Amino acid sequence: MKKAVIAFTIILILILILFSMRLLSPKEIDDVTPSFFCAEELLKKSDILFVIPKFNNTLISENPEWCEYILSLNKTLGLHGVYHEYKEFETDRDQEYLQQGIDEFKTCFGYEPTLFKPPQNRISKTNKELIKQNNMKLKTILNKIIHKIYHCHY
Ligand SMILES: [Zn+2]
Repeated sequence: MKKAVIAFTIILILILILFSMRLLSPKEIDDVTPSFFCAEELLKKSDILFVIPKFNNTLISENPEWCEYILSLNKTLGLHGVYHEYKEFETDRDQEYLQQGIDEFKTCFGYEPTLFKPPQNRISKTNKELIKQNNMKLKTILNKIIHKIYHCHY
């Protein structure tokens, strides 16, 4: 067999593997927050909802109806930054900063988050440690490749 044919076959197999991983792995939706529009269909299709607790200084806890609605969907919920500023967690943050997000999440949903996904998938070494210390599992860039990810938007 010609080398080119072998190479093509390998690439094709890899694409198929990646495609089936994306089909089978849990679907996620990012940027879940009251001020963004999220198609209910997408929320229901997703397995994990990543919530922004203080987007544009809008506290999720100030909207108990929204909290109820999100809880009623019966999905796994994760924390997606605190304010979701651009590359928010590439800048080193302290406990106090992260705690604001955790507290907001807890007030809204009644429990502390166990999953964390940094905005734009960027996170510094120090922040990685901080997330770990707070008993949250970090979702990283690899996650983005193998999962189908939806987004809420304006
Ligand atoms: Zn995001």
